[in-house]
Amino acid sequence: MIEKDVKQVDTREPSAVLRALLEDKTPAGESLDTLVRFAVHRRATDIYCSPRRDDYQLRMRCDGVVAPLGIVPRAWGERLINHTKVDARLSGDERRRPQDGKILVEDPDHTIDVRVSTLPTVFGEELALRILDRRVRLIELDKLGLHQRAMEVLRELMGYTHGLILVSGPAGSGKSTTLYSILNELSDGTRKIHTVEDPVECYLPGLDQTQVNVKLKLDFSDVLPAVLRHDPDVIMIGEIRDVETARVALRAAATGQLVFATVHASTAAGAVHSMLGLEANPHVLAGALRGVIAQDLLRRLCPQCAEPLETATDTLVLDEIRPLLPTGATPSPRQAKGCEACMGTGHQGLVAIFEVLRCSGEIEQAVEQEQRPDKIEAMSVEDGMVPLRLSAKLAVAKGFTTLRDAMRLIEA
Ligand SMILES: [Zn+2]
Repeated sequence: MIEKDVKQVDTREPSAVLRALLEDKTPAGESLDTLVRFAVHRRATDIYCSPRRDDYQLRMRCDGVVAPLGIVPRAWGERLINHTKVDARLSGDERRRPQDGKILVEDPDHTIDVRVSTLPTVFGEELALRILDRRVRLIELDKLGLHQRAMEVLRELMGYTHGLILVSGPAGSGKSTTLYSILNELSDGTRKIHTVEDPVECYLPGLDQTQVNVKLKLDFSDVLPAVLRHDPDVIMIGEIRDVETARVALRAAATGQLVFATVHASTAAGAVHSMLGLEANPHVLAGALRGVIAQDLLRRLCPQCAEPLETATDTLVLDEIRPLLPTGATPSPRQAKGCEACMGTGHQGLVAIFEVLRCSGEIEQAVEQEQRPDKIEAMSVEDGMVPLRLSAKLAVAKGFTTLRDAMRLIEA
């Protein structure tokens, strides 16, 4: 029943989905499920059903931007909201006070958690659905979007048999996706790979994955010693966020394991300082650290409708990246337009921006001497690292994202 429903809806064509939804015959329950599945498919985080004087406005939020889904009749909106309230076990009669609840929507391969909230407005109740879809999709390493130089260094780092490799970036910057891509490639049957995660976001065949459970007092630092007794060749630590986890991770990295871990920092050099901030011994850190991958995400221009940017004002920004482009290639920045595929927003999905620092030679010494992040970064650039700021410009020059979106990283 559910599978049939999914196949009937053309998830690439919003108007078809809406047409199917607006069929009066569609039961409210199916409309709700279809809306949620459609939103998940479009990587939306929220769906809003907002009352107006005569009808309801349906919208969703993708990559932080609100996009219209359509206008639906008053009766349709009320039916959807009433059904959702029943599903979320909210009081159906209560329309004057905000309410909160949760529903589960079944999809063929997983269950989608949805947080439901209602809020009274002058024209009736507004419904907001927050999609808590924490699934991480596995992407092949070559398709993550690392530029050539960064990929070369990453492959070099993956070739080590022991040491520490950090992945840093703000929350929601795709760190898990990067780690899964790396582990999936390392998982060729010749190594025992164990992950400790909070939570496990993607099941990978061939890996042993353990989820921490803070309520059971099983945090990273509690689980790791037990994991080490199982003698893995490669360990992935979801996050180094306390002194003890930092200590165990470093000890493992120094004594024969290849350890991958995320740490909170916005740049690669900043990650080194995050570890020092967690009382990592500078000498041990310098000896164990092989490299750091720092990343961030920017909105991707819709590949179907983005148009060439015809302005000379950005030449200054783009001149710097000319040497990074393949010989003969010229920058081809683009701007957003909007079409049906992107629901008029001009954007679809996200593009990952990377910098990969190699910790060797002088940089290793700089880590040991606890040099400032800007000093470590400058030395890495000297060593050939393309910093995030420049990677962001490169994404603009290749027409993947807009200069306006990239400014946040360029000016950082
Ligand atoms: Zn488009």
